[in-house]
Amino acid sequence: MGKTTTARILAKALNCAKGDGPTPDPCGHCPSCKEIKAGGSLDVQEIDGATNNGVEQVRELRESARYNPARDRFKIWIIDEVHMLSTGAFNALLKTLEEPPPRVKFIFATTEYHKIPDTILSRCQQYDFRMIPARELLAHLRKVAEGEKIRVSDEALGKVARAADGSVRDALSLFDQVLAFSGNEVRDEEVTALLGLIDRELLLKASSAAVAGDSLAVLELVEGLADYGADYRNFTRELLLHFRELLLLKLAPEESGLLSSILPEERARMKPLAEAFSEEDLLRVFDVLTRAETDLRLAPDPRVTLELALLKLVQMRRLMPFVELVDRVERLAGGAASPPRPTPSDTRPTAPSPAPSVPPPPAPAGPPEGASAILAAMIELSASRPSLGQPLRSAAPRLEGDTLVLEVAPDYVAFASMHLDEYRELAKRAAGRALKVRVGAGAVPSEPEAPPSPDQVKRERLRKEAEREPAVQEALDLFEGKVVDVREAKPAKESA
Ligand SMILES: [Zn+2]
Repeated sequence: MGKTTTARILAKALNCAKGDGPTPDPCGHCPSCKEIKAGGSLDVQEIDGATNNGVEQVRELRESARYNPARDRFKIWIIDEVHMLSTGAFNALLKTLEEPPPRVKFIFATTEYHKIPDTILSRCQQYDFRMIPARELLAHLRKVAEGEKIRVSDEALGKVARAADGSVRDALSLFDQVLAFSGNEVRDEEVTALLGLIDRELLLKASSAAVAGDSLAVLELVEGLADYGADYRNFTRELLLHFRELLLLKLAPEESGLLSSILPEERARMKPLAEAFSEEDLLRVFDVLTRAETDLRLAPDPRVTLELALLKLVQMRRLMPFVELVDRVERLAGGAASPPRPTPSDTRPTAPSPAPSVPPPPAPAGPPEGASAILAAMIELSASRPSLGQPLRSAAPRLEGDTLVLEVAPDYVAFASMHLDEYRELAKRAAGRALKVRVGAGAVPSEPEAPPSPDQVKRERLRKEAEREPAVQEALDLFEGKVVDVREAKPAKESA
């Protein structure tokens, strides 16, 4: 940000009369520097691309570019928001850029780089300006406030800084709007209302209610939003951003630039919430909220739509006991002695039990060579990770050079594709050499032909138990059969 200011500094550097040529250190006192600062230089023209975007304006510019500078070293055009030029205008400009007259310079500024034709970009040197982190904006606003003797809390300044989205100019103009309303003493609530912001307290309330599994709290929250006349879609979007921040807090190390938009004192408040959600929880939250945000556009009763979405978030957290249950099933199954035959049963309550389409032969003593032998060894090695083993048991293997192709039951393709790294590792350990692993969809598994082993019977019993569990019923209703996701989730740490 600060692109037009920088463009002017660059123009001064090119035209400063202090020395014999362009200088990295323009004096700021010579006529050229002064005129550029005041915007009145004959040789430095600033054009707003948004309003002067036609072919005609560019033609005038080209005409003028044929003449020498009136007084200064260069004739400079600064075109702000250059992406707003029409295609015709860009084409007209291109001719000048291809053969620029001597002593003519163009400086283009834009926030939407991708809208500029490649033909233009390829003839420019490009400099990217970074967004300014919220805490730096806050410090800047604090200085302004002190200079003007304005009483305002860090919290209020933080709101302005966040709303400015990395731009100093936006931050100052927003702050100006707030001051125009509130005078020398700024109250926190006024800032929220003036900027049309959703109060962060409400966002924290929503995520806390989800952690606590408190349905009543979210209904009260929506009631509060209704009283306040808030826009539900806007709230949903803000809530999405809030959960995104929780995800960042969860994943990014303290010093990461990803966290720069979150103020330190807010981090302290949000950190426990971030810890209470698992990564998988948060991804499901995004799913629910993104869908709600879309639905709200057309919803006949937006309030109900929002309530349902928030209740889903609350319910989601209540499903944790179910995840723990499945985890227990997995550990039991994984801890059992290796069965004589691969077990075809499946712990997932929804899917029919897939059976092995290729019974693995006993693993040879040396490093296995054939695809089937490698697969058998991989199944053996995956005993402690039954969730990885299941797809392998359904797989038809073949080797293509140093690639192990596994055609797994269609149900498992998505899961297996997401865990390719783990399968590569298993394959490497199984084969004693590095193998690439590719996953494809195989035939639908056939019925098991062997009588069930005691292990199978036990797992079938656990599966039935799992199905009767109320939380599981709830899960099936809530996620409409997408239970595979839930099974793969790790139980979240209990804290709030
Ligand atoms: Zn100068």
